[in-house]
Amino acid sequence: MKKTNKIKRIRGYALALIFAGMIIMYLGVFFRETPWLFGLFIFIGFIPMILSFVIYFWVGLVSTRTITVQCPNCENYTKILGKVDYCQICKEPLTIDKDLEGEAFNIDYNVDHRLEKFKEEKESEEKN
Ligand SMILES: [Zn+2]
Repeated sequence: MKKTNKIKRIRGYALALIFAGMIIMYLGVFFRETPWLFGLFIFIGFIPMILSFVIYFWVGLVSTRTITVQCPNCENYTKILGKVDYCQICKEPLTIDKDLEGEAFNIDYNVDHRLEKFKEEKESEEKN
């Protein structure tokens, strides 16, 4: 998996979808002599564009739940989504969960049940 900040990555996907939609629509121009085929390309091209619009909207919603923290590595302010995320600037793995500080970075910690499992394992290890 590529080490990129989640919000940045999702925005990247949305942008790629817009381009995909534009390319499909552009290809339709070659079939402008055949109206139904031209219409079909425009229609198919619209789907990724709508999808990307939905993603942008969703990112906007999700962004309100992000936390801005100062990165200890590059000292810039960065947005964290979920419990663990990468710094937007220097790609330093960051966490807002105190229990995870100093642990090896794992994107799985964003999934609650996996995080719980990890914490349980850690606790039982400490007892032994
Ligand atoms: Zn940083």
